[in-house]
Amino acid sequence: MQINAPKRPNLDSVTSVNSDGSHYILHPHDVRGRFTTARQIFGYLLLAVYVLLPWIPVNGAPALFLDVEHRRFHIFGITLLPQDLWVMFFAITGLGFSLFCITSLLGRLWCGWACPYTVFLEHIFRRIERLIDGDGPKRRALENAAWSPNKIMRRVVKQLLYVLFAAIIAHVFMSYFVSLPRLYDYVKEGPLAHATVFTIITVLTAILWFCFSSFREQFCIMMCPYGRLQSALTDDDTMIIGYDSLRGEPRGAKGKTSGACIDCRRCVNVCPTGIDIRNGLQLECIGCSACVDACDEIMDKINEPRGLVRYDSLKGLNKEKRRIMRPRVYAYMILGILGLVVMSCIAYNRARPYHAEFSRMRGAAYYVDASSVRNVFQYRIINKRQQAATFTIRMTGAPAGYSLSGGDVPFEIPAHGETKRTLVVIAPTGSYQGPGDIRFDVEANPGDFHFEETLKFLGPDPRTLQQPPQ
Ligand code: SF4
Ligand code: SF4
Repeated sequence: MQINAPKRPNLDSVTSVNSDGSHYILHPHDVRGRFTTARQIFGYLLLAVYVLLPWIPVNGAPALFLDVEHRRFHIFGITLLPQDLWVMFFAITGLGFSLFCITSLLGRLWCGWACPYTVFLEHIFRRIERLIDGDGPKRRALENAAWSPNKIMRRVVKQLLYVLFAAIIAHVFMSYFVSLPRLYDYVKEGPLAHATVFTIITVLTAILWFCFSSFREQFCIMMCPYGRLQSALTDDDTMIIGYDSLRGEPRGAKGKTSGACIDCRRCVNVCPTGIDIRNGLQLECIGCSACVDACDEIMDKINEPRGLVRYDSLKGLNKEKRRIMRPRVYAYMILGILGLVVMSCIAYNRARPYHAEFSRMRGAAYYVDASSVRNVFQYRIINKRQQAATFTIRMTGAPAGYSLSGGDVPFEIPAHGETKRTLVVIAPTGSYQGPGDIRFDVEANPGDFHFEETLKFLGPDPRTLQQPPQ
C-alpha cells in the first residue's frame, strides 16, 4: 500500500497536486483562536442568511426569489421584470467595484470569510469530516490504513452525510428559483411528476458532493476566476496574511537561533490549501487566517509576542510606511458607489407595485372613414403585488368629443398576474383637431394608486377631411 505522507510545500509546485497530476489529499489540522472563532460565527450567520432568504417575506414576496417561470425577479421588496434587468448592470458593476475596493484594501477577505464555497466547505463539510474521522493526523492515519470494518463504516457514514448536505444545499438553491410551497409540492408529488426539477437538483447535488467531498481547495486554486483576478487588484499596501521574516528568520529551535520562528510547521499543517506562508504571498492563499491563530498559539506557548504571522501589508511586514488610501482604492470606491447609487435610484423608481406599457398597435398609424379618425393602442399591465387589484383606464387630456372604446370599465388582475388589451380612441370628424397628445389615466384599486401615460394621437391634416353635413 502506498503511504500518503505529509508533503513539504514549495514555490515550484501546487501542494495538492502530485507530480503525476493526481490529487494529493490535504488534511489540515484543527486550529483554535480569535480569528477562527470569529470566522465560525460569521460563517454560521451567513449560512442562516442563505437558508432564510427564500423564507423571509419582504413586500409580500420572499426576500430573494428569482421566479423564472413567471419572469418576475423579487429582490428585497423590489419586483423586476425581464425588461428591467438592465438595472442589474448597475447592480453588478456597483457590487463588483465595491468588492474590488475591499480587495485592494483588505486582500482576500471575501475568499476566506464570506465566499459561499468556503463557508459550505469549512463550516459544514470539514466539520462533518472532523466529527467522524478526527483531527488532521488521525485523518491521514485513517487514509493510509488498510481497509477494515471501522474504516469502511466511517467512509460510508461520512459520504452519506456529504450527500445529505449536498442535497439540502441543492434544495435551498432551488428555492431561490421555485417558491418554497411549490418546492414542497414537488417533493411531495415525487420525482416522476417533475422530472426537470428533479434532474436539476440531482445534478446539482452530484456537483456539490464532488466539489465538497474531494475537489475541495482545487476549485479555489485552479478554477475560481475571482482568485485569478485578485493579484491584479492588490499591491504592496494591501492588507494580506503574511509572515514577518525580519522577525522570524533565521528560523530554528528556540534559543539556538536569533529568529522567532521555531520551525514547528504548525502554520503549514493548518493551511487548507497546503502552502507554507513563510515562503511569502502565494496565489493559493485564500486569506482564511488559520495560520495566524496557529502561530499565535505557538508564540503564547513559547512566551513570545503574537503576530509573527499576521494581517499586514507587504510594506508593513518590511517595516515600511503603509498607505491605506491609494489612487486605485479611490477609483474602485467611486465606481462602486456610482453603480450602487444609480441602481438604488432606478430600483426606487421601478419599485411601483404595478407596471404598465402602452404602445401603438402594429399596422396602420391611424384609420379614417367618413365619420371619424381612429387610433388603436395596446396596453399591458402587470400586478406586482401579492393581492389581486382592480384597474380602470380612462382617457384624460383629449379634445372634447373624442371617445375611448375598451376603457372606463374596471377589470381585475390577479396577484402577480398581467393582462393585455386593446384601446381604440375615436375622434369624430367634426371634433378632430389633428395630431396631438392624449393622456390615459390608469387607476388601481380606486383611490390606492394611479399613474398617467401620454401617447400621440395621429391622423391626417384636418383640412383634408371632408366635414360631415350639419
Ligand atoms: S496561508 Fe494561512 S491564510 Fe493563507 S490559506 Fe493557508 S492558512 Fe489560510
Ligand atoms: S507556526 Fe509560527 S513558529 Fe511555527 S513554523 Fe509557523 S511561523 Fe514558525
